[in-house]
Amino acid sequence: MNGGIVVLTGAGVSAESGVRTFRAADGLWEEHRIEDVATVEGFTRDPVLVHRFYNERRQTLATVQPNAAHQALANFEKNYTGDFLLVTQNIDDLHERAGSKRLIHMHGELLRMFCTQCMHNINITGDSSVEDTCVACGKRGGMRPDIVWFGEMPYQMSAIEQALMQCDLFVAIGTSGNVYPAAGFVQSARAIGARCVELNLEQSTTHHLFDEGRYGPATEEVEAFFSALLKTSSLTQ
Ligand code: NAD
Repeated sequence: MNGGIVVLTGAGVSAESGVRTFRAADGLWEEHRIEDVATVEGFTRDPVLVHRFYNERRQTLATVQPNAAHQALANFEKNYTGDFLLVTQNIDDLHERAGSKRLIHMHGELLRMFCTQCMHNINITGDSSVEDTCVACGKRGGMRPDIVWFGEMPYQMSAIEQALMQCDLFVAIGTSGNVYPAAGFVQSARAIGARCVELNLEQSTTHHLFDEGRYGPATEEVEAFFSALLKTSSLTQ
Protein backbone atom coordinates (compact mmCIF):
# COMPACT_ATOMS: atom_id res chain seq x y z
CA MET A 1 0.00 0.00 0.00
CA ASN A 2 1.21 3.48 -0.90
CA GLY A 3 0.36 5.85 2.00
CA GLY A 4 -2.14 3.12 2.81
CA ILE A 5 -5.25 3.87 4.82
CA VAL A 6 -7.66 1.28 6.19
CA VAL A 7 -10.96 2.51 7.66
CA LEU A 8 -13.25 0.27 9.70
CA THR A 9 -16.84 1.38 10.26
CA GLY A 10 -19.49 0.04 12.61
CA ALA A 11 -23.13 0.70 13.38
CA GLY A 12 -22.30 4.17 14.80
CA VAL A 13 -21.57 5.58 11.32
CA SER A 14 -25.19 4.89 10.30
CA ALA A 15 -26.79 5.94 13.60
CA GLU A 16 -27.47 9.51 12.49
CA SER A 17 -29.13 8.21 9.33
CA GLY A 18 -31.69 6.59 11.62
CA VAL A 19 -30.36 3.00 11.61
CA ARG A 20 -30.25 1.78 15.19
CA THR A 21 -26.98 0.44 16.58
CA PHE A 22 -26.51 -2.95 18.15
CA ARG A 23 -26.96 -2.61 21.91
CA ALA A 24 -24.05 -4.69 23.10
CA ALA A 25 -24.64 -4.00 26.79
CA ASP A 26 -27.97 -5.85 26.93
CA GLY A 27 -27.30 -8.16 23.96
CA LEU A 28 -30.36 -6.93 22.07
CA TRP A 29 -30.62 -5.93 18.42
CA GLU A 30 -33.90 -4.16 17.61
CA GLU A 31 -35.53 -5.84 20.66
CA HIS A 32 -34.33 -9.31 19.68
CA ARG A 33 -31.73 -11.51 21.37
CA ILE A 34 -28.72 -11.92 19.07
CA GLU A 35 -28.89 -15.70 19.66
CA ASP A 36 -32.33 -15.68 18.02
CA VAL A 37 -31.64 -13.52 14.96
CA ALA A 38 -27.90 -13.61 14.36
CA THR A 39 -26.80 -17.24 14.75
CA VAL A 40 -27.23 -20.38 12.63
CA GLU A 41 -28.87 -22.04 15.67
CA GLY A 42 -31.47 -19.26 15.85
CA PHE A 43 -32.19 -19.61 12.12
CA THR A 44 -32.54 -23.40 12.41
CA ARG A 45 -34.89 -23.00 15.40
CA ASP A 46 -37.15 -20.31 13.90
CA PRO A 47 -36.40 -19.43 10.25
CA VAL A 48 -39.70 -17.56 9.89
CA LEU A 49 -38.68 -15.11 12.63
CA VAL A 50 -35.20 -14.64 11.14
CA HIS A 51 -36.54 -13.95 7.63
CA ARG A 52 -39.01 -11.46 9.12
CA PHE A 53 -36.26 -9.73 11.15
CA TYR A 54 -34.04 -9.15 8.09
CA ASN A 55 -37.05 -8.26 5.91
CA GLU A 56 -37.82 -5.46 8.38
CA ARG A 57 -34.20 -4.28 8.36
CA ARG A 58 -34.19 -4.40 4.52
CA GLN A 59 -37.46 -2.43 4.34
CA THR A 60 -36.01 0.36 6.49
CA LEU A 61 -33.23 0.92 3.93
CA ALA A 62 -35.80 2.69 1.74
CA THR A 63 -36.49 5.18 4.54
CA VAL A 64 -32.88 6.18 5.33
CA GLN A 65 -30.20 8.15 3.51
CA PRO A 66 -26.39 8.31 3.74
CA ASN A 67 -25.27 10.99 6.18
CA ALA A 68 -22.33 13.42 6.19
CA ALA A 69 -19.99 10.75 7.58
CA HIS A 70 -20.69 8.29 4.72
CA GLN A 71 -20.31 11.17 2.28
CA ALA A 72 -17.03 12.38 3.81
CA LEU A 73 -15.53 8.89 3.43
CA ALA A 74 -16.66 8.59 -0.20
CA ASN A 75 -15.34 12.07 -0.97
CA PHE A 76 -11.99 11.27 0.66
CA GLU A 77 -11.65 8.05 -1.36
CA LYS A 78 -12.44 9.91 -4.59
CA ASN A 79 -9.76 12.54 -4.02
CA TYR A 80 -7.04 10.58 -2.22
CA THR A 81 -4.25 9.31 -4.46
CA GLY A 82 -2.81 6.73 -2.05
CA ASP A 83 -4.17 3.27 -1.26
CA PHE A 84 -7.45 3.22 0.58
CA LEU A 85 -9.74 0.45 1.81
CA LEU A 86 -13.05 0.85 3.63
CA VAL A 87 -14.13 -2.18 5.65
CA THR A 88 -17.61 -2.04 7.12
CA GLN A 89 -19.29 -4.27 9.66
CA ASN A 90 -22.58 -2.75 8.57
CA ILE A 91 -25.08 -4.69 6.54
CA ASP A 92 -26.86 -1.58 5.26
CA ASP A 93 -25.97 -0.07 1.85
CA LEU A 94 -25.33 3.51 2.95
CA HIS A 95 -21.60 3.54 2.11
CA GLU A 96 -22.19 2.49 -1.50
CA ARG A 97 -25.11 4.89 -1.84
CA ALA A 98 -22.75 7.69 -0.71
CA GLY A 99 -20.33 6.65 -3.48
CA SER A 100 -17.72 4.46 -1.74
CA LYS A 101 -16.07 2.03 -4.17
CA ARG A 102 -13.19 0.26 -2.44
CA LEU A 103 -15.49 -1.29 0.13
CA ILE A 104 -15.69 -4.66 1.87
CA HIS A 105 -18.86 -5.72 3.71
CA MET A 106 -17.17 -8.11 6.11
CA HIS A 107 -20.47 -9.08 7.80
CA GLY A 108 -22.50 -9.47 4.61
CA GLU A 109 -25.30 -7.37 3.14
CA LEU A 110 -29.04 -7.01 3.68
CA LEU A 111 -29.45 -6.81 -0.11
CA ARG A 112 -28.00 -10.29 -0.71
CA MET A 113 -29.26 -13.84 -0.07
CA PHE A 114 -27.66 -17.20 -0.66
CA CYS A 115 -28.77 -20.79 -1.03
CA THR A 116 -27.54 -23.07 1.76
CA GLN A 117 -27.85 -26.06 -0.63
CA CYS A 118 -25.70 -24.84 -3.54
CA MET A 119 -24.26 -21.52 -2.16
CA HIS A 120 -25.65 -19.52 -5.12
CA ASN A 121 -25.76 -15.84 -4.16
CA ILE A 122 -28.39 -13.36 -5.39
CA ASN A 123 -29.42 -9.72 -4.99
CA ILE A 124 -32.68 -9.06 -3.16
CA THR A 125 -34.62 -5.86 -2.62
CA GLY A 126 -37.98 -7.25 -1.45
CA ASP A 127 -38.89 -9.77 1.23
CA SER A 128 -37.50 -13.28 1.60
CA SER A 129 -39.22 -16.32 3.11
CA VAL A 130 -38.79 -19.98 3.98
CA GLU A 131 -40.80 -20.74 0.82
CA ASP A 132 -38.24 -19.21 -1.56
CA THR A 133 -36.77 -21.42 -4.29
CA CYS A 134 -33.15 -21.13 -5.41
CA VAL A 135 -32.93 -19.98 -9.03
CA ALA A 136 -29.73 -22.00 -9.53
CA CYS A 137 -30.44 -25.44 -8.02
CA GLY A 138 -34.24 -25.26 -7.88
CA LYS A 139 -34.37 -26.41 -4.26
CA ARG A 140 -36.92 -24.82 -1.97
CA GLY A 141 -36.49 -23.69 1.64
CA GLY A 142 -32.72 -23.25 1.70
CA MET A 143 -32.40 -19.52 1.02
CA ARG A 144 -31.01 -17.39 3.87
CA PRO A 145 -29.93 -13.78 4.33
CA ASP A 146 -26.29 -13.23 3.34
CA ILE A 147 -25.38 -12.02 6.80
CA VAL A 148 -22.32 -13.28 8.67
CA TRP A 149 -23.80 -14.51 11.93
CA PHE A 150 -22.02 -14.94 15.23
CA GLY A 151 -19.75 -17.97 15.02
CA GLU A 152 -19.30 -17.64 11.22
CA MET A 153 -16.19 -16.47 9.38
CA PRO A 154 -16.40 -12.85 8.12
CA TYR A 155 -15.85 -12.22 4.42
CA GLN A 156 -12.58 -11.34 2.69
CA MET A 157 -10.44 -11.68 5.79
CA SER A 158 -7.24 -12.31 3.84
CA ALA A 159 -7.72 -9.12 1.76
CA ILE A 160 -8.42 -7.15 4.95
CA GLU A 161 -5.42 -8.57 6.81
CA GLN A 162 -3.20 -7.87 3.81
CA ALA A 163 -4.32 -4.22 3.72
CA LEU A 164 -3.81 -3.91 7.49
CA MET A 165 -0.29 -5.35 7.19
CA GLN A 166 0.62 -2.58 4.74
CA CYS A 167 -1.22 0.44 6.08
CA ASP A 168 0.22 3.61 7.57
CA LEU A 169 -3.07 4.75 9.11
CA PHE A 170 -5.97 2.80 10.59
CA VAL A 171 -9.19 4.61 11.54
CA ALA A 172 -12.06 2.90 13.41
CA ILE A 173 -15.38 4.75 13.26
CA GLY A 174 -18.53 4.14 15.32
CA THR A 175 -17.66 0.64 16.44
CA SER A 176 -17.92 -0.53 20.04
CA GLY A 177 -14.94 -2.92 19.94
CA ASN A 178 -17.07 -5.85 21.16
CA VAL A 179 -17.34 -7.90 17.96
CA TYR A 180 -14.26 -9.86 16.84
CA PRO A 181 -12.33 -10.22 14.60
CA ALA A 182 -13.03 -6.56 13.64
CA ALA A 183 -12.23 -5.42 17.19
CA GLY A 184 -8.75 -6.91 16.76
CA PHE A 185 -7.83 -4.98 13.59
CA VAL A 186 -6.32 -2.19 15.69
CA GLN A 187 -3.84 -4.70 17.11
CA SER A 188 -2.76 -5.83 13.63
CA ALA A 189 -2.31 -2.20 12.53
CA ARG A 190 -0.41 -1.28 15.71
CA ALA A 191 1.88 -4.26 15.31
CA ILE A 192 3.24 -2.92 12.02
CA GLY A 193 3.57 0.64 13.40
CA ALA A 194 0.52 2.25 11.73
CA ARG A 195 -1.03 5.27 13.39
CA CYS A 196 -4.40 4.24 14.88
CA VAL A 197 -7.27 6.68 15.38
CA GLU A 198 -10.71 6.09 16.87
CA LEU A 199 -13.70 8.32 15.96
CA ASN A 200 -16.70 7.54 18.13
CA LEU A 201 -19.44 9.04 20.27
CA GLU A 202 -17.76 7.56 23.32
CA GLN A 203 -14.67 5.49 24.08
CA SER A 204 -14.85 1.94 22.72
CA THR A 205 -13.74 -1.05 24.78
CA THR A 206 -10.45 -1.06 22.83
CA HIS A 207 -9.83 2.72 23.01
CA HIS A 208 -6.54 2.26 24.93
CA LEU A 209 -5.00 0.60 21.83
CA PHE A 210 -5.41 3.74 19.69
CA ASP A 211 -2.88 6.56 19.40
CA GLU A 212 -5.67 9.10 19.30
CA GLY A 213 -9.41 9.26 19.99
CA ARG A 214 -11.83 11.95 18.88
CA TYR A 215 -15.26 11.83 20.45
CA GLY A 216 -18.48 13.26 19.05
CA PRO A 217 -21.14 12.47 16.42
CA ALA A 218 -19.78 10.75 13.30
CA THR A 219 -21.33 13.40 11.04
CA GLU A 220 -19.00 15.97 12.64
CA GLU A 221 -15.88 13.98 13.57
CA VAL A 222 -15.54 12.02 10.32
CA GLU A 223 -16.03 15.08 8.14
CA ALA A 224 -13.50 17.12 10.18
CA PHE A 225 -10.89 14.36 10.34
CA PHE A 226 -10.96 13.35 6.66
CA SER A 227 -11.14 16.84 5.19
CA ALA A 228 -8.06 17.80 7.26
CA LEU A 229 -6.33 14.57 6.18
CA LEU A 230 -7.04 15.29 2.52
CA LYS A 231 -5.48 18.77 2.87
CA THR A 232 -2.31 17.45 4.54
CA SER A 233 -1.97 14.54 2.12
CA SER A 234 -2.27 16.83 -0.92
CA LEU A 235 0.41 19.11 0.57
CA THR A 236 2.85 16.22 1.01
CA GLN A 237 2.40 14.77 -2.51
P1 NAD B 1 -22.26 -1.44 18.11
O1 NAD B 1 -23.72 -1.23 17.96
O2 NAD B 1 -21.78 -2.52 19.01
O3 NAD B 1 -21.63 -0.09 18.62
C1 NAD B 1 -22.00 1.14 18.03
C2 NAD B 1 -20.91 2.14 18.33
O4 NAD B 1 -21.25 3.32 17.65
C3 NAD B 1 -20.75 2.46 19.82
O5 NAD B 1 -19.37 2.45 20.14
C4 NAD B 1 -21.33 3.88 19.93
O6 NAD B 1 -20.64 4.67 20.88
C5 NAD B 1 -21.09 4.42 18.53
N1 NAD B 1 -22.02 5.46 18.11
C6 NAD B 1 -23.35 5.52 18.32
N2 NAD B 1 -23.86 6.61 17.75
C7 NAD B 1 -22.82 7.25 17.14
C8 NAD B 1 -22.71 8.45 16.38
N3 NAD B 1 -23.75 9.23 16.11
N4 NAD B 1 -21.47 8.81 15.94
C9 NAD B 1 -20.38 8.04 16.20
N5 NAD B 1 -20.44 6.90 16.92
C10 NAD B 1 -21.64 6.52 17.37
O7 NAD B 1 -21.69 -1.57 16.64
P2 NAD B 1 -20.59 -2.48 15.97
O8 NAD B 1 -19.32 -2.35 16.73
O9 NAD B 1 -20.63 -2.12 14.53
O10 NAD B 1 -21.12 -4.00 16.14
C11 NAD B 1 -22.47 -4.29 15.84
C12 NAD B 1 -22.72 -5.50 14.97
O11 NAD B 1 -24.12 -5.46 14.63
C13 NAD B 1 -21.98 -5.43 13.65
O12 NAD B 1 -21.45 -6.67 13.42
C14 NAD B 1 -23.03 -5.12 12.57
O13 NAD B 1 -22.98 -6.07 11.53
C15 NAD B 1 -24.37 -5.28 13.24
N6 NAD B 1 -25.24 -4.06 13.04
C16 NAD B 1 -25.25 -3.40 11.84
C17 NAD B 1 -26.03 -2.26 11.66
C18 NAD B 1 -26.01 -1.57 10.32
O14 NAD B 1 -25.81 -2.20 9.30
N7 NAD B 1 -26.20 -0.24 10.25
C19 NAD B 1 -26.81 -1.78 12.70
C20 NAD B 1 -26.80 -2.50 13.92
C21 NAD B 1 -26.01 -3.62 14.07
